[in-house]
Amino acid sequence: MRTRDVSQGRRDFVRMSAAAPVTLLLLALGEAYEQPGAVSATPACTDEHEPARQQTAGPFFLPHSPQRASLLEPDINGTEIVLTGRVYWTRCSAVSGALLDFWHANDAGEYDLEGFRLRGHQLANCEGGYRLETIVPGLYPGRTRHIHVTVQSPNGPILTTQLYFPAEQRNARDSLFDRRLLMTIDNGGKRKAARFDFVLALM
Ligand code: FE
Repeated sequence: MRTRDVSQGRRDFVRMSAAAPVTLLLLALGEAYEQPGAVSATPACTDEHEPARQQTAGPFFLPHSPQRASLLEPDINGTEIVLTGRVYWTRCSAVSGALLDFWHANDAGEYDLEGFRLRGHQLANCEGGYRLETIVPGLYPGRTRHIHVTVQSPNGPILTTQLYFPAEQRNARDSLFDRRLLMTIDNGGKRKAARFDFVLALM
């Protein structure tokens, strides 16, 4: 039953992506901020930024994740991290109400395929801002550390990609790794603070 659900979900997802009327590109601006967590009133989303590739959803996407900004639960172990950022169109206008759907492995590198642990979606605010509370995902064979995400403008096409952690030894050995998808991470606070801005471009 679960296998069929996953398969159906992926078919639905692929169908939705294929139906996108425009090509959606992602510009990674995470490294452009000097202070992780700081919000720039005038984001530097110019055409000078190199567009990043859409990345595979992998085999563990499940549709219909719960709406929640915190994936933390009392019995979930791991290093807590808060990921913040904004969703922009090119020309720097905010994508108000963008839907961000996150999912990732637990501290032991395992995905929950029976439920929705470490899965959740949220809507960006009127300034395109989002905030996710979760844990640092564990490693699993063949992959470096990563967080899966889809970003969808209201009634728009879906961008599927993955976010990566800097200073990971496995980054260099993962063929999917793309440094344009690196989060900026501040380890100085009580909890790790990560930052990544998504720029969606209509082509
Ligand atoms: Fe994965």
